[in-house]
This record gives sequence, C-alpha cells and structure tokens, in this order.
Amino acid sequence: MLVNDFQNKVPDTVDELTKLPGVGRKTANVIASVVYAKPAMAVDTHVFRVSARIGLTSNAKNPLQAEKQLVKYIPEEKLAIAHHWLILHGRYVCIARKPKCNECGIRPYCKFAPKS
Ligand code: SF4
Repeated sequence: MLVNDFQNKVPDTVDELTKLPGVGRKTANVIASVVYAKPAMAVDTHVFRVSARIGLTSNAKNPLQAEKQLVKYIPEEKLAIAHHWLILHGRYVCIARKPKCNECGIRPYCKFAPKS
C-alpha cells in the first residue's frame, strides 16, 4: 500500500495511516505526532488510565472517547508533549496500584488525590 497507494511515503494523517494494515488509531496518532509533529494525542492504556484518574477525562468508555476529550481541552501546541507527560507521570508517579500522591506535583489539581 505504501508503494501503490501512498507513492512510497508514510502518510501524515491519521485517516490515511489507519488505512494501512496493522495500523490502529493509537499507532497512527503516534506517527502523526512524533514523526510529523502534528497535534495528535495517542491514547494507550497508560494515558487512558492516568487521564481518567486525574480527572482530565470524564466517563470515557474507550480510548477514542478519551482522545476526543483530551484533544478538546489540551492546547494544540501541547498535545504531542502531553502524551509523553501522561505516560511518564503514570509510569513514575501516578502508578496504577500505588500512586505516589505525597510526591506528586499536580496533586492540588487531581480529582483522585487524598484530601488531607
Ligand atoms: S495526586 Fe496521586 S492520583 Fe493524583 S495524579 Fe498525583 S499521584 Fe496520581
């Protein structure tokens, strides 16, 4: 398909990328934002979980719903880096089983944070 349909070039839009076999929306968003610096938000399990916990998303039932909410409220120029912030925050601070709320820099803004 890259040769025949896209003139030997990896496409730069999510719509075109997801036409490629094996490329889902998350991968397409990663390529669009990392390779082409487009304002796109890839939602993997970590972004999905952390966004919901903090309160950046509300009642999102799937990654696409979460993506739509995040894209709506995060400034366009911050979307690509916000994806990495959320992943790193989930990996090192807001850990799934035991979030480090006492060390967390965004605790005052977090819906899940203990109130004491
Ligand atoms: S305060 Fe706790 S739950 Fe909220 S983002 Fe920080 S680590 Fe996660």
